[in-house]
Amino acid sequence: MIAKKTTAQMMSKCEMCDDFVKRTPYKYKPQQYIPDWEPAEVLVCRKCVYREIYGSKNYRKQMKEGTLDDTI
Ligand SMILES: [Zn+2]
Repeated sequence: MIAKKTTAQMMSKCEMCDDFVKRTPYKYKPQQYIPDWEPAEVLVCRKCVYREIYGSKNYRKQMKEGTLDDTI
């Protein structure tokens, strides 16, 4: 699991775009590229988590369909 919804309180700040998160923030764990190095989890907004996982070309469509919302 690389991303999941959190129950953090509202008005958390997204650690990627620095915006306030209006909806449930997501915990996102960047993929591990370096062996023996555990990436830190970041608290991000919905837009950032979709963009990170699906890429900037596809994330809007996935957001509309709520792909991540159902699976994690
Ligand atoms: Zn963000």
